[in-house]
Parts: sequence; structure tokens; C-alpha cells
Amino acid sequence: MPEPLTRRRFLTGVVASALAAACTGGDDDGDSTDGAAPRRPAETTTTGAVPDLPADLFALGVASGDPRPDSVILWTRLAPRPLDGGGMPSGDVPVRWEVATDEGFGRVVAEGVETAPAALAHSVHAEAGGLDPARRYFYRFTAGAETSPVGRTRTAPADGAEVDRLRFVFASCQNWKDGYWPAWRHAAEEDPDLVVFLGDYIYETGITGGNGVRRHNSEEVRTLEGYRNRYGLYKGDPNLQAAHAAAPWLSIWDDHEVENDYAGDQPDKVADAPGFAERRIAAYQVYYEHQPLRIARPGDEPAELYRTLDWGRLARFHLLDGRQFRSDQPCDTGGDVSEDCPERTVSDATMLGGEQEAWLEKRFSGSEATWNVLANQVVMTPLPFGPFFNMDQWDGYPAARTRLLDSISSTGVSNPVVITGDIHASGVGDVSTGEPGAPVVAAEFVGTSISSDFPPEVAAAAEALVGGLPQVKWFNVRERGYVACEVTPDAFTARFRVVSTTRRPEADVATRSTWVVDAGTPGAREG
Ligand code: FE
Ligand code: CA
Repeated sequence: MPEPLTRRRFLTGVVASALAAACTGGDDDGDSTDGAAPRRPAETTTTGAVPDLPADLFALGVASGDPRPDSVILWTRLAPRPLDGGGMPSGDVPVRWEVATDEGFGRVVAEGVETAPAALAHSVHAEAGGLDPARRYFYRFTAGAETSPVGRTRTAPADGAEVDRLRFVFASCQNWKDGYWPAWRHAAEEDPDLVVFLGDYIYETGITGGNGVRRHNSEEVRTLEGYRNRYGLYKGDPNLQAAHAAAPWLSIWDDHEVENDYAGDQPDKVADAPGFAERRIAAYQVYYEHQPLRIARPGDEPAELYRTLDWGRLARFHLLDGRQFRSDQPCDTGGDVSEDCPERTVSDATMLGGEQEAWLEKRFSGSEATWNVLANQVVMTPLPFGPFFNMDQWDGYPAARTRLLDSISSTGVSNPVVITGDIHASGVGDVSTGEPGAPVVAAEFVGTSISSDFPPEVAAAAEALVGGLPQVKWFNVRERGYVACEVTPDAFTARFRVVSTTRRPEADVATRSTWVVDAGTPGAREG
């Protein structure tokens, strides 16, 4: 770097490192490759005798997700030994599910039997259909002699229904090693209609590191078995289980579900290139095995994670996949923060891929929703740190961002609001192309992390630098939590909820800041 080290340059460097560390999870891991190539599972059948089942089948809890007006996906995974391959016999297992309108299951309104295939780690994805719209339900599973805990779920309002209010929570980034998850307990107690999770559900990294509150169960995970045991660790957490049992989830992944800062088919580390395609297939499959998703099981074909969900005429959620199809981060960063270079602005760079971009424009055009929520992995508001950018964010793909914003403008899709995770910090931003004088197209709410740390030693510098940008209305790197949103036809209100500590499983929660987007206005105001 030819320039002298000015104070500003020093600060940008410090903050760049901090942001890089935050997004990376801040630790290095001893790598161990076990060499076992993940395989596609064989097609499963339900034939054959039911094996004798061990105890503790429902150690990973229950979940529901992707609700429609008449149905919802119910999830569980039979895994009595979740840190050690699951502990199930080798055959498929039939699992009975029930949906009732009362918690005591006196009025069961839907039931069925779904196979828990051995090839999918005995996970269950049951579509409970024939339900009424906009209604709360309770559900549970039975396998062998065991019955699962009871979960609460909810169907979406009828298509086109006028809806007065939607209450949802969004969250991201739950690095086990950095702390406990009292945030999930409080999120569950909010009794939201929906929980939206924006990625970094697991971290793939090794045993130690982070701030050391907890330890991972293994070295960096790379195989089907490794990823399964890692989800087994995370999903054993009672606070996380409470949040899944409280409401249906809409889930998308970010990078750590595979590897930090990967981009499409490019791993972060050059040394990880051999076998990365197989690793990604394994990681996507195991992600599916552990989420209540209404998508086809990922395999050799691209995974269709991106999708929309309607909440009557009030809101449409556009759930984006900014990882699987993106081009590599520019300027030889391998992701993270670096100095600008000409490659950053090339027009064929993509965050979503051409097919997803075209799909999204159609979903914008066809939307009759008052609010259009873009659930997205990485920060979209332009955040230049002097000559530096975080190349893993939309700032690394400005041409793709301009195409997305043009698509919003040309379709006239109403009231776009971007919700984002990834940076382990809370923020409120004005999304624009970043060109001088460019109009504000959407408000962005960036949720903090459930537990993943932002390096405290550079907190003040980061807040001063990022918080000082005119397009950033509020920025807080110091606290963990989630965002509780209330949406009405007139306003979208976001309350930034923060916990007092992540060093213990229990902690107090408080609202740190409240922001409102009024319908018809692109930017947020303090509420
Ligand atoms: Fe993260
Ligand atoms: Ca991330």
C-alpha cells in the first residue's frame, strides 16, 4: 500500500479487519480431511419391517415451516445420538404425525404417516394439508412407542385476503462457540406468526476459537457425516428448539452452512478446491435434512432454495439465495474486506444468477402485496470504508445490485423492504446504487446475530466509521439478539431486541431501537 498511514486509513484498516473477522467467525481451524466422498443417497422406499427403535428419538425437537393457506411442512429427525451419526438402525422408519386445533390433541384435524428415510438421516418432512387459512395449530409425531414434544404452527391467510397485521421475527448467525442463545427463548416468547432465518444456522469451523464460551464437537466439517453431527450439536440446544416449536420458519442459508465466504462453486480457500463440489452437495443435503423446507431434496441439480411466501395481500416474502449462484468475490479477496479494484464493477458479476434474477422480476411483477420483503443474506446498503469494500456483500457486486434495484423500479413492486443478516451487527440503511445522488429504493434492516461475535476491541471504530455514513441511520455492533417486526397496511415497524449476555442460556431482553417504514416511503424513520 503506497499511501502513508493516516488516521482515517488506519481506522478503515482496523474496521476492515474487524468486519472480516466478524464475517469469518474470527477463528482459524485446524483442518482435517477424512477423505470419505459424500454420496447421493439411494432412492428410499417404505417397504420392510420396522426396526426396533432406541429411546430418545426426538432429541432434536420438532419444527414447522413454509406455511400456505391450507398446509404447512412439519419436521423432525429421529436421532437418539445426534453427535454420533444419529444412532438409528439402518432401515427407514414410518413416523405418524398429527395436527390438532387444541394443545391437548382432543380435536385432531389432520394426520398421516411419513417415512423417515435412513438415506436422509431419518428426517421427516410431512406436508400437513387440508388445513384452514390463518389459523393456529398444534402438531406432534409418534415413532415406535415415543411421542415428540408438541409444536405450535400457523397457516398463512387465504390468497388475496385483507390482513390487518403480521408479526414476525428475523434472525441470523448463531455461532455455537461464541455463546448461548437466550435470544431464541425470547423470540419464542414473542409468539410471532413467523420466524425468518437469514443464514449461518451452523458454523462449519473447528473445535476451539471464537470467544470460547462453548466448543464445537469436531474439527472443520466437510462430509455428510460431519455436517450431520454439527447440526446434531446445534439442534440439541433447548432455546433453539423452543423457537422452532413456537412458530413456522422461513429459512435460507448463507455461507457457513457450507464454508465461510464460498461463492457459487468456489471455496474460500484455494486448498479446499479439490472435492468442493461434493462437499457442497453434502452440505446442502444436510441443511435440507435439518430444516422444515418445502423444497425438493437437494442433489446433483441446483437446489431451489429461493422461493416466495404470501401472507394474504399484506406481505410477500421473497426468499433469496445469494450463495449458490454468485460469481466469485472480486479483487482477489476470497471474500471480506479489501481495497477497490476495476474487477468489482464488471457487469457480468452476479449475486443471484440469471435464472433467479429473471424469476425475481416475475415475482415482483405478479405481486399484489402491500409489502414486499426481500429476505437476503448480505448487506445491500452501500458501505464504502474509504477505498475499501466488503467484497462479500452487495458492494462486491454493484452491477448486480443495480440490476436488482432497476427491477424493483421498473416493476413498480410496492414497498420493498430488505432484511439482512451476516455482519453480526444491527443497522438501518437506505438502499441505493451508491452512485452520487442515486434515489433511495428500499429500506434495509440488518439484524444482529443470535450469538456470533463482533470483535469488541474495534466496536467503537466500526460504529464511528459505518455509523457516520449518511445512508446509515443507525448502527450497533455491541449486542446480540433478533428483530421483531410488525407489519400493517400502513407501516412496517422493526424493533431491535437485544439480550443482556450470551455467556449464559438465560438473559434479559430489551428493545434497543425502533424503526418504522411508512407505506409509500422508501426510507425508515426512528419510531
Ligand atoms: Fe455469521
Ligand atoms: Ca455469513
